[in-house]
Amino acid sequence: MKKHNFSAGPCILPQSVMQKASEAVINFNNLDLSLIEISHRSKDFVDVMENARSLALEHLGLQNKGYQALFLQGGASTQFLMAAYNLLENKAAYLNTGTWSSKAIKEAKLFGEIIEVASSKNANFNYIPKEYVIPSDADYFHCTSNNTIFGTQMKEFPEVNMPLVCDMSSDIFSRVLDFSKFDLIYAGAQKNMGPAGTTLVVVKEDILGKISRTIPSMLDYTVHIGKDSMFNTPPVFAVYVSMLTLEWLKEKGGVAAAEKLNNEKASLLYTEIDRNSLFEGFVANKEDRSNMNATFNLTSESHKDAFDSLWKNAGINGLEGHRSVGGYRASMYNALPIESVQVLVDVMKELERKG
Ligand SMILES: *Cc1c(COP(=O)(O)O)cnc(C)c1O
Repeated sequence: MKKHNFSAGPCILPQSVMQKASEAVINFNNLDLSLIEISHRSKDFVDVMENARSLALEHLGLQNKGYQALFLQGGASTQFLMAAYNLLENKAAYLNTGTWSSKAIKEAKLFGEIIEVASSKNANFNYIPKEYVIPSDADYFHCTSNNTIFGTQMKEFPEVNMPLVCDMSSDIFSRVLDFSKFDLIYAGAQKNMGPAGTTLVVVKEDILGKISRTIPSMLDYTVHIGKDSMFNTPPVFAVYVSMLTLEWLKEKGGVAAAEKLNNEKASLLYTEIDRNSLFEGFVANKEDRSNMNATFNLTSESHKDAFDSLWKNAGINGLEGHRSVGGYRASMYNALPIESVQVLVDVMKELERKG
């Protein structure tokens, strides 16, 4: 039987998507050829890329609003530098909410002055800073919507008079937001969309072309837009599986339906974390808790062996916390069924009974 997969990333994808993807590796579109052995310039693959790009914009409500969707390589980590390469002339403002924000700041510093408007580092990133001032002369403001490692999530985004750039790697397509407030969104596929190997970039075209430096072609958003996200050989398998997941999401009712289910899953688990005296949440303020990655700990380490063997025997995978936080982390991405969360909650109750 398939495990209850709470892995933080790469992570669970819909089983029907896995099935279709595996069939396409053997025989794609009844071509008697594999998806991964045909030309990326063939109509069959060009259709995949175009469908994936348009589904991404559709799910975000950004069709015909001046945005372009690209499927690039190099992970979200390459976007840390690519965003700065394309947008940073003098200085940019960053909100530091965790390891990924810190890495984005480190890369951007190679291109200009970085103002860290606020940071929760002093508390091991267990909250989202709310009071901060963004310098009005910054070239853009960058934030991380969901902090995969620490289990915090931004519920509000500041109103800014400059491009708003957001790393949405671990909560893209998980909740309804006014995505038109954002000018550049990027997300590594492997948290909620597809296999590792491609990164979704959604960019508002009118923010580009404003800086004076020359940009290497592979790192230039304008070049990729001009080539319809086919400047060089795209990661065909990762794009195809992303397309299948976006189709699956549409069948399920889109981002709004995903959000409803994600709220139910998160509420089921957080209710138990708060109720069960053997557990405590890691995040300081409940309003900052992530609906994607729930971080929690045992109140006494003496229960560790018993809890670990209970959840492993229940068929749960990937519950270990990140090394910089410890404890446990339950990642509940779109494709995780609520039944899996119920299994985890039942195990937590069982530990209490045996306690
Ligand atoms: C996983 C993750 C990244 C890193 O993504 P890569 O594709 O491995 O480079 C960046 N930001 C966030 C929020 C993440 O969760």
